[in-house]
Order: sequence, then C-alpha cells, then structure tokens
Amino acid sequence: MSVVDSALPLLRRHLLLLVMVWTAACAAALLYFIHEESERLQQVVLGQARAVFDRDLLFRRWSAGHQGVYVPVSAATQPDPYLARLPERDVITPSGRVLTLLSPDAIERQLLATGASRDFKVRVVSPDPIRSENLPDAWEGQGLAALARGQEEVSTYFADKGQTHFRLLRPLTVEDSCLGCHGVHNYQVGQIRGALSLSLPVNALLAANRRHLASDAVGYVVLWGLGLGGLILGHRRLRRQLDRERSKSEELSRVEGDLRHLTFHDPLTGLPNRLLFDDRLNQAMIHATRVGEKLAVGVLGIDNFKKLKNTFGVHCGEELLKRVVQRLVATLRADDTLATLAEGRFLLLLLKQGDSDDLTRVVQKVREALREPILCVGEEFFVTATLGVALFPDDAVDPRGLISCADAAFSGAKVLGRNSYARFAADFSRRALETMTMENRLRRALERGELELHYQPQVDGRNGRVTGAEALLRWRHPELGLIAPAEFIPLAEESGLIFTVGAWALHAACKDGAGWYRQQNSSFVMAVNLSARQFQQPDLLDIIDSALALSGLPPAALVLEITEGTIVEDVPRAIETLVELKQRGVRVAIDDFGTGYSSLNYLKNFPVDQVKIDKSFVDDIHKHGNNNVIIASIVSMAHKLNLELVAEGVETEAQRDFLLAHGCTKMQGFYYSRPVEPERFGELINALATGDAELMRWWCEPGRPMLPE
Ligand code: C2E
Ligand code: MG
Ligand code: MG
Repeated sequence: MSVVDSALPLLRRHLLLLVMVWTAACAAALLYFIHEESERLQQVVLGQARAVFDRDLLFRRWSAGHQGVYVPVSAATQPDPYLARLPERDVITPSGRVLTLLSPDAIERQLLATGASRDFKVRVVSPDPIRSENLPDAWEGQGLAALARGQEEVSTYFADKGQTHFRLLRPLTVEDSCLGCHGVHNYQVGQIRGALSLSLPVNALLAANRRHLASDAVGYVVLWGLGLGGLILGHRRLRRQLDRERSKSEELSRVEGDLRHLTFHDPLTGLPNRLLFDDRLNQAMIHATRVGEKLAVGVLGIDNFKKLKNTFGVHCGEELLKRVVQRLVATLRADDTLATLAEGRFLLLLLKQGDSDDLTRVVQKVREALREPILCVGEEFFVTATLGVALFPDDAVDPRGLISCADAAFSGAKVLGRNSYARFAADFSRRALETMTMENRLRRALERGELELHYQPQVDGRNGRVTGAEALLRWRHPELGLIAPAEFIPLAEESGLIFTVGAWALHAACKDGAGWYRQQNSSFVMAVNLSARQFQQPDLLDIIDSALALSGLPPAALVLEITEGTIVEDVPRAIETLVELKQRGVRVAIDDFGTGYSSLNYLKNFPVDQVKIDKSFVDDIHKHGNNNVIIASIVSMAHKLNLELVAEGVETEAQRDFLLAHGCTKMQGFYYSRPVEPERFGELINALATGDAELMRWWCEPGRPMLPE
C-alpha cells in the first residue's frame, strides 16, 4: 500500500476529528457568549434596580429630613392616624385650607398607588411592621432573614402573569431623620428595622437580550457553517490532490512494472528473456540438487526462420513467432520455462526429468504442437523445429556449461537436418573434430570413387508399375561402411563440396536414368535431389545441360527435387532458375512438402511441376484424424493447381490404400522398395520390363517382404 493509499483513510478520519473539534469550539464559544450575555443582563438589571433603589432611598431621606410633607386633606389623603400624636399633624392655612402631614412612607405608598405609569414598585417591608401593608411576602420574609444574617442584598427573578420581575431586597437602616416619627418606637440609629423591596419588570430587557442572543447565535451558526464548509472544501481539495498523487503513483508503478517486465521478458513474445531464464535455471538447479532430481535445458530453433522472415517480411516472421510460442507454451508443463534466446530460437528449462523417455515425450509434444499448419498473414505455414537438449547433472553442473551443452546438442541436431532432435553427448566436441576429418575424407571420397547413387523406385500405386526413380547418394566408406546422406550432405553443403558432389550425382543419375528411360519406353523419370546451395550455383544450368547432353536423357525425364526453403531463400533468383528449367522442359518437384513453411497457395506463384508429400504425413495416416484432412486437402489443392503428386515414405498397404482412395497415385517408399544399388534397380526394371510374371506377382503382392537395400 502506498503512502497515498494510507493517507486517504487518515484524511477521512481527520476530517471527522476536525469537524468535531470545530463544532465543539463553536458550541463552547456560543455557550460562553450566552453566559457572558446573561452576566451582562444581570449587571444591567442590577444596575437599573440599584439606581431605582438609590433614587427611592434619596427621596425617602429627603422627605424624612423634612419630617414629612404637608398636603391638602382630600378624600384620598386623610390625616394619618399613625401621626396623631404629633401636635402639628394638621394645619390650617390663612386661607382656611386644611393641610395634613404625610410621612415619607405614606408619600411612597401614595406614589405607588397613583404611579400606574411607573413600571417598578418599591415598598418597605419589616418582619415587625407598624402597618399591616408592610408585612413581607414569602420571598421577602426569606430575604429579611438573609439580611439579618448580614447579607448585603438579596435578589431574584420572579414570573407572574406573563411578566418577569427582578426583585431586590436591601436593608433599611434607621437614620437620624427617621427618629422624628419613629423615635417613639424606640428606633435606634443604625438599627436595621426592615428592608426596601424593589420589584422591576424586566420583560423588555429579557426580550432585547433574547433578540441579541438569537442574532448572535445565528452569527455563530453561520461562522460554524463557514468553517465546516472550509474544512470540507479543504478536505476535498486535499483529497483531489491525493487522488492525483495516487493516479500518478499508480502510473509510476505501472511504468515500473512494465520496465521490470521489459527487463526480464522479450517484448515481442512476452517470453522470459535470458536474464530471467538464467535466474530460473539457477534456482531450479539448486532445488534439483537438494531433492536429487534431474532437469533438462534445451535449445529449440524454428527451422529456416531467417529465410522465412527474409522472404515473407518481418511482420509475417513476428506473427509466426508469436503463434509458435503460443503453441509451445500451451504444450509445455506450467512449471517448465520457455525463454527467448535469439530470433527464432528459444531456451527450454524442463524440470523433473527422470529418464530419456521424458525427453522423448517432450520432443513428441513439441512436434505435435507444430504439426498443424499455422495460418499467418493469409498463408499456411508448416513449421518444424530442431531441438538440442542437455541434462543436469549428467552433462554439466553449472548453468553456463549446461546451456553450452544444450547449444552443442542443438548444433548436432541441425546437422541431422530439419525437425531433428539430439541429446548432448560427451563426445560432441570429439565429433566436431571428426567432422573436420570427415570433410577431408569426403574430399578424397570423390576422387577415390567412394560415392555412389542408390535408386528408390517411384511406383504407380494402382498397378505397381515403376514410373521412375529417385537417386539417393551414399558414401561407401572403407572403414565406416555405407554412410547415409544426412551424415555428409550438410557437411558437403557447409564446405562447398556439394557443388562437385552434386554435379557428379547429376551426371551419374542422368546416365543411369537414360538407360532405364529407354528400357521403359519413355515413361520413366529420374528424380535428382538438389540442395539449396546447388540451386543457387551460377553454373547449375550448364551442369544440367551437360548432364542431359552427355547422358541423352530427355529434359522431360529429369525431375529436380528442391525443398520449399530453397525457393524462399532467394525468390527472384529461384524464379529465374525455375523459368530457365521450364524452358528446357526439365521438371521440378517440391520435396518434403509440408515440413517447410510454405503453402500450396504460395507455390502457385512458382513454375513447379510436382509436389512430394513428406513422409511425416504419410506416417501419421491412421494415427491422427487431422492428418487425413491435411493429406486430403494437399491432394485436392495439388489437383486444382495441376501439380503432380508423389507420396514419400509409404511403408504399409494401409497407407497406400489411403493415398489411392484420396487420389494420390504415385508413391515411393519401403513398402515397394528401399533405395537399392543401380545394378539391383536395373535388375528390377529389367524383370518388370521383360514381363517376368513371377516377379511381377511378387512385386504387386500385398504384404510381401520389402526389397532390401
Ligand atoms: P529425400 O529426398 O526426401 O529422400 C527420401 C528419403 O527417405 C531417403 O533417405 C529415403 O531412403 C527415405 N525413404 C524413402 N522411403 C522411405 C520409407 O518408406 N521409410 C523410411 N523410413 N524412409 C524412406 P536418404 O536416402 O537417407 O536421403 C535423405 C535425404 O538426403 C534426402 O531426402 C535428400 O534430401 C538428401 N539427399 C539424398 N541424395 C542426395 C543428393 O544426391 N543430393 C542432395 N543434394 N541431397 C540428397
Ligand atoms: Mg528427394
Ligand atoms: Mg523427401
């Protein structure tokens, strides 16, 4: 998990925390404000109450200082009975008006009674009142007790009939001016005889305070909302930034991943590259050593891949490579490794190899995987692969050594030709030396006449009639015996000896063929193999001309067998040569058809006359249903393109019957005869030509023993 990934939930949690802190701060501020406001209200109310109180006290002092005030006697103002003892309570003015003395308290009461406009009330209360009006109510009674205990003032709020009053009680101390009236009641100066009780309506103040509180609370809520909005916006911005950071870091890790993949993989096929292969090999070797297992390393090369790429283009080469890789990967075990080594070449790491049967199975699987043609850029390609394998720990105990051994085995397999397999042998390096010796010997072999041609009949499967022969080279080595062409032709090609060898073979075959041609009443063809290098030989046509001229074999009786690879190696030149041959009447056959990479469709562009179905397809008849389809489609396509067909490697009656049933009549193979020496082939031809009935019967008899080489 990246830093950004862990930051996001943290950010979400932090936002919650911040919102909570902000809300708590706003709520605390609001509460503090409310508290302050109520304190202020208290002070205002108290201030007002005190002011009223002081004014009232001042008035009382003033009126007490004058021992009361004379007012005219009226219905509302009668002489005060409590002042009856005063001699001057009532006076008559010279005009005859009667004035009576009003005590300060009476004035106050009258003021209270008349002062409807006044919104406050002040009265004297006493626990021991002279007048009953001055009796305290319950709250005043409790207040008086508190004042008696020394409290300076007592206050409270009191609600009554929708009106809230602020009530204040303060002690009333006896002063000198009081003694004028109250001296008779034994009042002492400084004595607390009661209290002044003030009741101040505060509804308006409270309402104003509530309005003030409400508007300020709205302000606080707005502030809280703004803060909240700011926090959310800030959070969002941060989150967006983090998202951007995250996508950037994801992009970065993707690029990193791609880079890592590129470092260890082949960009074209996606296969592990050499680096990764070496690492896996190391690990596998350590594991195999610990558990006592064997493992194998293989070098696998697609045959003629470079030629194919040069002919069909890079794109086609790459596509084909990808398809081949898909098939190989699908066929190998999941714990095996297929890695890219070079263009068209791969490394194989095969774990848990018990015995050579395991390797053989792998080889079969690889061949099986490539057996079906591969459709690529509109063409069908028959791909084969060559494989060289080395075993750990038998052949080498270190990774480099093991790969070198596998490579040596691969080179060995290549010598055997396409679609070959070789296991590393300890004498591989010795073999390299032997190869050199062989090369020298081959040079001398020509001079010493150790090379010979054997002939294998080509037969019309419908009636067993010999229609021609294929000339196949043999080297009769004085010490090693008869050596097959696969052992020395690649060597001859590499060294350039093939030109001399090929020219010799062409001359010899034409010479032998001319005789049999005459015997067979012109229905005989002589097939001679040409290697790719020979086909590109500048004086090839001269050699052919001279071979035909010297032997007397008509050009139409000569079939030159070349492989698909030979054509695609240098297409313009191949076409030129093919046209020249066509003009001469010499026929050309595509040998081993199906093992290369070309298709019949492709071949229609070249002036060829014959197609030889490779032995591997014939081998598979009755083994794989699909092959039957392949052969059937090759036959029908060849017929459409007017190409003659010859099936190679027919070994059984069933194969013959299958081919006949599918319209391929010409065939060649051990079923009829192995390649034999010219003398024996001549005998066969003679016998058949002279109409030796017994020989003919034997020749045509199903299940007869093969004519040995
Ligand atoms: P190729 O031209 O495809 O020849 C057919 C090969 O298949 C021959 O092997 C033949 O002996 C073998 N064969 C034929 N019928 C059967 C059968 O029923 N079963 C089995 N198992 N094999 C069968 P050979 O003679 O060893 O020749 C191998 C290859 O060497 C030839 O393949 C050809 O490519 C090359 N070669 C032979 N002679 C010459 C030559 O004079 N010049 C060149 N350039 N190449 C030659
Ligand atoms: Mg051939
Ligand atoms: Mg062949």
